[in-house]
Amino acid sequence: MDCIFCKIVNGDIPSARVYEDDDFIAILDIRPVNLGHTLLIPKKHFRNVLDTDVEIGSKIYPVLTKLCNAIKDALNCDGLNVIQNIEAAGGQEVFHSHIHIIPRYKDDGLRF
Ligand code: 5GP
Ligand code: ZN
Repeated sequence: MDCIFCKIVNGDIPSARVYEDDDFIAILDIRPVNLGHTLLIPKKHFRNVLDTDVEIGSKIYPVLTKLCNAIKDALNCDGLNVIQNIEAAGGQEVFHSHIHIIPRYKDDGLRF
């Protein structure tokens, strides 16, 4: 399948990996909307949360919690946004499931 995130998971395309375990990687977004913009990506290909299986779905929240805390501690941000864009109408451009973790800083002016 011609999927850019499958290629990143497999190491065929380079990325800045900030986390990896048996089921997930987290990488820095190539076009960050804010300092530290990170993508949490299941290694197994799903389109988005709508078709994600129960096993991976049940594992992702603890990883998300760990990553958000690590990012907050590392960057000393004031808050975060955790977002999934679902389908083209929801802004999804890469159709391999991923969660955006976007550090937020007081008065950074970003709006979602
Ligand atoms: P979406 O709009 O699908 O929710 O977000 C896709 C995200 O993937 C975008 O923020 C985009 O910058 C990021 N992205 C697309 N291609 C690459 C890539 O090759 N490497 C990395 N690190 N990020 C990518
Ligand atoms: Zn994929």
